[in-house]
Amino acid sequence: MAQSNDVILEVRGLKAQYRSPRGIVKAVDQVSFDLRRGETLSLVGESGCGKTATGLSILRLIEGLRGEIVGGQILYHGNDLLKMSSEKLRQVRGSKIAMIFQDPQSSLNPVLKVGDQIAEPIMLHMGLGKKDARARALELMKQVGIPFPERRIDEYPHQFSGGMKQRVMIAIALSCNPEVLIADEPTTALDVTSKAQIMDIFRHLKENKSMSIIFITHDMGLVADTADRIVVMYGGRLAEAGTVLHVFDTPQHPYTMGLLKCLPSISGSQTRLVPIAGTIPSLIDPPDNCNFNPRCPYVMKMCREVRPPEYQTAPGHRAACFLYTQFPVHSPGAVAGVA
Ligand code: SF4
Repeated sequence: MAQSNDVILEVRGLKAQYRSPRGIVKAVDQVSFDLRRGETLSLVGESGCGKTATGLSILRLIEGLRGEIVGGQILYHGNDLLKMSSEKLRQVRGSKIAMIFQDPQSSLNPVLKVGDQIAEPIMLHMGLGKKDARARALELMKQVGIPFPERRIDEYPHQFSGGMKQRVMIAIALSCNPEVLIADEPTTALDVTSKAQIMDIFRHLKENKSMSIIFITHDMGLVADTADRIVVMYGGRLAEAGTVLHVFDTPQHPYTMGLLKCLPSISGSQTRLVPIAGTIPSLIDPPDNCNFNPRCPYVMKMCREVRPPEYQTAPGHRAACFLYTQFPVHSPGAVAGVA
């Protein structure tokens, strides 16, 4: 494992929102985490918990989707992406930080050959000519396991299956050797076999390329299989963060405990999946208390009145929950080695 303590991306107190006909949707509410060189960090939670909005905010792509970033910092090697000029940000997008989306169908241009779509960022960011960019596109298609790449490079997206389209998207994302890859539910639209094959590509990237990956998913099974560290999100906020080993072994936040109870046990000791009762909170005008309180079996009076800070429950492990008031409050950036 190529993981180190070398932090390359820091998200600090990020706040992002969408405009909707019903009001302002507070999609990300003061979320902080770090990404280190060579690690896979998973953002996990139910649909609508803010994990995709967080991924989109890192590259400021949320701004083109009726969204805006209203607070915080996103530091890439110490430079705040939120303060970067459009020109500088364009240089970072694709060549330094790339993103893969969950629906390859809508991300590919239907009237362009896949080879041209892979070659385009190579010519743009790496300055290669058409011939060399095509050769690199071919090499990338082989790397992500697209069969008969010499023939398929001149085919159009509609000639590819869902799994093969997602491989094309991964090839485009990898085209300029990015340092950070953000993968947003990259296997959601795929069948079981394609899903396993795509996850093999991610494992290979992590092990052989020392790439830092932010893996966004609602699937705790995939997290256990691929991630080093985990950030559990609930209702746009961070509920818990820590190493996968710690969080799976000793989950601190009642929401994480609930998510893990939903997982089938490998040993077979857990025969029934236990769903979390209740529904996710509305992100329009959310009250400033613990947003998990209507679903929490441990709810106390203060949980309905005040928002809990994040408590440092162990080195590198924190939880936003009043069950841990005996631990110090976590301040983003103040504690070395914190998720
Ligand atoms: Fe439950 Fe209170 Fe903790 Fe919220 S702060 S998760 S309601 S115990």
